[in-house]
Amino acid sequence: MGSWMVMSLNCPRAAYKADHDDQKLIDELKYLMNKSVEVFRVKKKWMDHLLASNRIPFAAMTPRDPNTGEKGAIAVDFAALVYTIGVVGINEMVQYHTGKSMYESPDSFKFAIRIMYEMKLHAQRLSQENGIEIALARTPAETTAQRFAVSDLLHPEYAGKAENNMNGDVELTKKELGTTKDLPVYYTNGTHIPPGADISVIERINYEQTFFPIVDGGNILHIWLGEGTPDPDGLQEMAMHIAKNTATGYFAFTRDITICKDEGYVTSGIKDSCPKCGSENIDHLSRITGYLQSVDGWNAGKRQELVDRTRADPNNLKV
Ligand SMILES: [Zn+2]
Repeated sequence: MGSWMVMSLNCPRAAYKADHDDQKLIDELKYLMNKSVEVFRVKKKWMDHLLASNRIPFAAMTPRDPNTGEKGAIAVDFAALVYTIGVVGINEMVQYHTGKSMYESPDSFKFAIRIMYEMKLHAQRLSQENGIEIALARTPAETTAQRFAVSDLLHPEYAGKAENNMNGDVELTKKELGTTKDLPVYYTNGTHIPPGADISVIERINYEQTFFPIVDGGNILHIWLGEGTPDPDGLQEMAMHIAKNTATGYFAFTRDITICKDEGYVTSGIKDSCPKCGSENIDHLSRITGYLQSVDGWNAGKRQELVDRTRADPNNLKV
């Protein structure tokens, strides 16, 4: 309950519109942020109305202290809630704009940082002008990462620009485009390096840590582990390195898990069958954005991301 609502921005589309012009890109992103504030204002007006007419009783209740019997503070401090603008696909935005991905060129990486600072400053300006607190964050994008990519492929004006500027199986997607929106393509979450980028985990940390001080929240650094049993000393050493020597505010080690539904046997990695009894009645678990979940419920874009993720060797995590 930290935020009233989140508006997610399709940053790659802003780059398609800007047509490689820096100022146009910045103007387009600011325009999208201004539009977001218009939506926030509608939301605020509506919520103020609901609160005034006591139509949100659960969140507005003032529970009694069980010891003193006195009424306590309101359950949800509505005045403290912020409005969040979340970015999606900063890497693909920069990739289209400059011709290189963030990790392929120092200039592209610097440009991403510059754009994020422009957006942060604009968020601060909008907060002051509108008297509401606006946070710039990474959208978790469980669905949006795929949805934005598919919408761009469906858009007559942007399809040609988008098809070489996204992750996943574009060829398969083009064949099935128009029959379903659940397709195996996606933009990269927030300010992340694409999950399939062929770089070491240390390089990934060095890129992604840079953005933590810029955004107000929602950011997470993922370390995807491969199969095998992680070396505890290596894990600890890497965790301490990230916490002490980088600007990373939040990070997660993730190991994929296969569970045999016949006997409950748990093993690491994404397996086609249970290595113990051979059953194909299995469930796969992994981290979708912040939390672990059964892969069954993921859309085709996120399932493609799971396949694409570059995994670190869990036995070789020492820094
Ligand atoms: Zn089994």
